Amino acid sequence: MIHRIKELESASLELDPSPGVRKQVRKEVIAYTEDFLKTLDRAKAFVSSADKGIALLESPVSEHPIPISDALNLLRKNVDTPGLNPASGGHLGYIPGGGLYFSALGDYMADISNRYAGYYFASPGAVRLENMLLRWVAQVVGYPSEAAGNLSSGGSIANLIAIVTAREAKGIKARTIEKGVIYLTVHAHHCIRKAIRIAGLEESVIRLVGLDDQYRMDASALEAQITTDRLEGLNPWLVIASAGTTDTGAIDPLEKISGIAKEHNLWFHIDAAYGGFFMLCPEGKQKLKGIELSDSVVLDPHKGLFLPYGLGLVLVKNGKDLHRAHQYSASYLQDAVGVHEDELSPADLSPELTKHFRGLRLWLPLKLHGLKPFRAAIEEKMLLARYFRQELLKIGFETGLEPELSVVIYRYIPKKRKGLTLEEINSFNEKLVQEIQADGRVFISSTILNGQFTIRFACLSFRTHIKTVNLLLKLLKEKSKMLDKG
Ligand SMILES: *Cc1c(COP(=O)(O)O)cnc(C)c1O
Repeated sequence: MIHRIKELESASLELDPSPGVRKQVRKEVIAYTEDFLKTLDRAKAFVSSADKGIALLESPVSEHPIPISDALNLLRKNVDTPGLNPASGGHLGYIPGGGLYFSALGDYMADISNRYAGYYFASPGAVRLENMLLRWVAQVVGYPSEAAGNLSSGGSIANLIAIVTAREAKGIKARTIEKGVIYLTVHAHHCIRKAIRIAGLEESVIRLVGLDDQYRMDASALEAQITTDRLEGLNPWLVIASAGTTDTGAIDPLEKISGIAKEHNLWFHIDAAYGGFFMLCPEGKQKLKGIELSDSVVLDPHKGLFLPYGLGLVLVKNGKDLHRAHQYSASYLQDAVGVHEDELSPADLSPELTKHFRGLRLWLPLKLHGLKPFRAAIEEKMLLARYFRQELLKIGFETGLEPELSVVIYRYIPKKRKGLTLEEINSFNEKLVQEIQADGRVFISSTILNGQFTIRFACLSFRTHIKTVNLLLKLLKEKSKMLDKG
């Protein structure tokens, strides 16, 4: 047996590369990432390729190691080229992503030390750091010190955690689900509907509250519906508002909704995954007034704080509700739990047990940059959106109202031919989006509003500056003219 153990040991030692091997591999990885960053300015925001990375499948997982250079070639060709490039400032579709460099270094360090960020007992420093970040966001939002939160992998999971917390706090049980009513609008992010299903609440009555002319929840319609539902013997218990919808960037009337929720004893949740961090600039803070009145809120640092994908967060005003909904224990954890602790453990506040130390990817850029450039970048996005809309009007596009945050909705009504049907106008705009996507230097996306095919400009990448916006304007002008000629 000892012989076999030694044999296995020498084979498994490969898993712990020597300093020399580490250095060589690291050098190539750094060269690769430096090349990626240095050419990013010229790289396309969208590449439609026929093979879509299929060559990856020709190199299956096997007994045979490959050199790092081969691995990097596979990645360059098959992963980092085809499709959308979320690191590009030219990404102006959906809700753009980020990719702060110092976050990558934070992940690197978190992965090397592999601190166990699930329990305070195991890594008091890591848990303290994460809770400190959550307290900072709570302060930005205007939540009291009893609030608690969790750093999640993204906004979808964060919304799920909030909805489960609300369900538990309101005592919703299987036998009462059917009489329970949840209120939201058709513009609530689809992950909310997904979370409702995952949380076992799909058999509730789901009321899609009407919108006002700016695509915001109509608060008086909400109130009227709650009153009607009460009279019918139903149990209204949850209202979900959006602070920055994905479709149009609209902010629901938070203060009014809060008043209604209080009066009728509903849990008030806000999905601010996209819009929340606009609070870092004075105008955004003004626009998001009332966010502090909610019972729970979700923000996405991998959107509004420009982090690479993999970080959302949820805050619950009464931290005890979050704890009650997620705390569990097991006998093999007897050394880690139950002792008096001055920090709550993430494992007691989310479905996760073993958890990546994801706080470091947020802490490092915040500490190394300070807040000033974050505030500047978020305000810049708001102004770029306003600038874009103003310039669009000059080149003959029809737009929605002044953008609330950094999403602009618009479409082109062809000028050359008169009496076009809605379908013809829609298909014109669809072709326009396809033309821009085929060019690939910038990426834009679209939605349907009141049956109208509507193009969206969503500005949230820290790498998007006025140069990119001017390029999009130029492309829109050229392509719309070209298509209008027929
Ligand atoms: C992006 C987004 C979500 C979903 O968050 P993920 O991080 O993609 O899981 C939810 N709501 C809104 C408003 C969003 O913009």
